[in-house]
Order: sequence, then structure tokens, then C-alpha cells
Amino acid sequence: MRVGIGYDIHRLAKGRRLVLGGVEIPCGRGLLGHSDADALTHAVCDALLGAAGLGDIGRHFPDTDQRYRGISSLKLLATTVATVRAAGFEVENIDVTVVLQEPRLAPLIREMEETLAGTLGIEASRINVKAATNEGLDAVGRGEAIAAWAAACVAEKHRA
Ligand code: MG
Repeated sequence: MRVGIGYDIHRLAKGRRLVLGGVEIPCGRGLLGHSDADALTHAVCDALLGAAGLGDIGRHFPDTDQRYRGISSLKLLATTVATVRAAGFEVENIDVTVVLQEPRLAPLIREMEETLAGTLGIEASRINVKAATNEGLDAVGRGEAIAAWAAACVAEKHRA
């Protein structure tokens, strides 16, 4: 078994779609970034890459690469998990905490887990998504940004 962690934060801006865990969320603002800026999914990618010892999302998907402009982060996650599997690992479980002041994510958590699981090709029971506020503190608490932490556990099947 090997474990990895991931962290990401993106600014909120008007005129952008809000996508978290691959699910579009009705909101007056969205996250700013080169891709769809899905901070939750980016944190999951980094946790998986970390667990497999394969570097980070910036190395695999540089934001200077025009191929990734506006791309769904689920596509980045699909490529990430394919890379992790090619290196001889299988995903055991993923745990995520997304930190945001609003909107409330509780009604959408299950859909996020199922969407991520579908992209990863694993059972939804192996993915846990949690949401927390930042108690009004710092940029996240002021509603200027959304952050996410993820942990991933992978099992060595065979070493490439
Ligand atoms: Mg990011």
C-alpha cells in the first residue's frame, strides 16, 4: 500500500462555471484557471500521482499547454489514473475535503463521488467527499477561493 496527498486552491471569479468533482454547481461565480479549474479533482489527481511516486499535476498537464485550456478536469483525472495503473498500481480509496464558504455542497456530494468513481473505474464506496467551511477565515472564508485536500491509497499490483 502507498499513500499520497494532494492540495489545490483556485480563485472564484464572475463569469466562470463552478465545477467541483466533475459536477457543475449553479452559482453566480466559478473557479478561475486554465482548465475548468476543478480544484477538487486537481487535488485527487495530485494525491494519486503522489501515491504512485509520479510527480504532480503540473508536470503531467502544464498550464502553458494549449491542449488543456478549458478542458474538463475529469479528462485529466482519467489520464492520471491510466498513468497510475500503467505504473503498476490500483486505486484502493480516495478521501477528499473541499473547503468553501458557499454554496452548500451536501446535496451534491453523492453525485461527485459517483462521477469521480466512474472516471476512475472504481466503486463509489471507495471515494469519500467531505465539505467544510473555513469559518469565515482567510481568503476561502471570505468567499474569494475554494480549496481542496485529497488523500489517495494505492496498492502495488505489479511494478512496471
Ligand atoms: Mg488546479
